[in-house]
Amino acid sequence: MQNKETVVIIGAGPVGIAAAAQLIERGLKPIVLEKGQTVGTAMLEWGHVRVFTPWKFLVDTAVEKLLLKTSWSYPDKEHMPTGREIVEQYLMPAATQTALASTIIYGTEVIAVAKTHLSKSSTAGRDDAAYTVHFKTNDGHYNSIEAAAVIDASGTWHSPNPIGLDGLPVPGERENKAFIQYGIPDVRNKQKDDYAGKRTLVLGGGHSAINVVLDLLKLQQDSADTQIHWGLRSINIEKLLGGGINDQLPARGELGQAAKRAIDSGALSLLTPLKVHSITRAPSGLSVQISVDDDVASDIESIEVDRIIVCAGFRPDLDILRELRLDIDEIVEAPTALAPLIDPNLHSCCSVKPHGVEELTHHDKNFFIVGMKAYGRAPTFLMLTGYEQVRSIAAELAGDHEAARRVELVLPQTGVCSTKGKSPASSACCEPASPEPASCCGTSTTTASTEPPLKATSSCCDPTHSAVPAPKKTTSCCG
Ligand SMILES: Cc1cc2nc3c(=O)[nH]c(=O)nc-3n(C[C@H](O)[C@H](O)[C@H](O)COP(=O)(O)OP(=O)(O)OC[C@H]3O[C@@H](n4cnc5c(N)ncnc54)[C@H](O)[C@@H]3O)c2cc1C
Repeated sequence: MQNKETVVIIGAGPVGIAAAAQLIERGLKPIVLEKGQTVGTAMLEWGHVRVFTPWKFLVDTAVEKLLLKTSWSYPDKEHMPTGREIVEQYLMPAATQTALASTIIYGTEVIAVAKTHLSKSSTAGRDDAAYTVHFKTNDGHYNSIEAAAVIDASGTWHSPNPIGLDGLPVPGERENKAFIQYGIPDVRNKQKDDYAGKRTLVLGGGHSAINVVLDLLKLQQDSADTQIHWGLRSINIEKLLGGGINDQLPARGELGQAAKRAIDSGALSLLTPLKVHSITRAPSGLSVQISVDDDVASDIESIEVDRIIVCAGFRPDLDILRELRLDIDEIVEAPTALAPLIDPNLHSCCSVKPHGVEELTHHDKNFFIVGMKAYGRAPTFLMLTGYEQVRSIAAELAGDHEAARRVELVLPQTGVCSTKGKSPASSACCEPASPEPASCCGTSTTTASTEPPLKATSSCCDPTHSAVPAPKKTTSCCG
């Protein structure tokens, strides 16, 4: 297939859909390739989880305009939906009842992107060459499509971090993958049979892990044999439960408090600071070799569990982009200009300067990584930030360079930072973040509804930040 005017978008998540709507608004021709059978395929995998951002921060303006031409009505703007509700009440109507419907091709997994007839090492004529996007269809066929520009909005949900502290799988992790799940499985409903009455080790110190642990505790109320081990890399449990999580967000603060009550009640065993060394099969389940302090290998002990749930964050799959000339930061794996704004070694802030085409440009012209994937390994992405990214890119591709560089996003008050032993009130942006791969990406709804939003130009650690009233409501995390 050949079409040099086409803009191919990889992934029909909220940001891919927003990109398509923004391009349509600009008179361009998007084609969205989605590997799943529906919009929001990744989101549906955590569909049982309630987000901490209300509807008013989840709907893209261009998608909204398309939807308002149908019988769709905006959900309660202050309500915080689940992932499934976002798909059913927003993405699905957009993908079936608007002009977006004819742009999405399902069951189409992009396996590589290249410059047409030019390998990575070929320079002559590169800027003028089109892109060829190679894909595999559900029925196992391989094909390709040519495009003038490519927007990669494929997220990171399908490339979770493994167990090893060095970023690699521990021995036995691959071999026992049938008993190991990554992300936030629905242990109370869809996967109840796998977890009820079983021994589960949950690994991770972010809100994904807390969500999983609390769900397992609810399961334990119905099925008393359910045993829960919770392994955290960091010994700073107070920060997790009393500082970083005990924020001003009622729902999120309650998450931390509920986890604290559970630990105090002895309903679960807490293993911290935990290192997993290896995993082997035991006669009845898995034997996990661990050490539970900062000591050396001589202190290795074993625990037996039936299943492991890993909530250690995500990373971008850059393999499909191997033939392109990217401009990627080697630490965060985000575009180089964006990386310093979101590097978790430097910030645990959620208030990232709104950004667009300037920060997202690569060496290969008219190729962009957007959405969750644009944040690489950083866990602080907000949908609203992604909508601003694709608004700017669509303007650039349409030749409206001024609009592309204009910041239109008004960020909601977002969570701030690591407290590092200070009281939450004294916590500030720009502190080094926790090494735990906690995700911090919600917004303070109470704040947003009662206080003015941050100025669009304000940014955590930006010198201009001091001119803006510091957000009083802090950390909100969702990973
Ligand atoms: C539990 C949880 C809670 C969150 N809560 C909030 C919140 O409160 N507020 C907020 O603003 N953000 C939140 N986020 C962060 C973020 O906004 C979401 O993860 C959001 O779904 C990211 O959107 P996306 O479009 O970038 O990627 P995704 O939603 O991950 O969509 C990517 C799409 O690309 C498809 N795809 C992947 N690879 C390919 C391929 N090779 N070819 C074709 N298709 C492909 C996938 O199937 C998927 O449909 C949360 C995230 C999680 C995990």
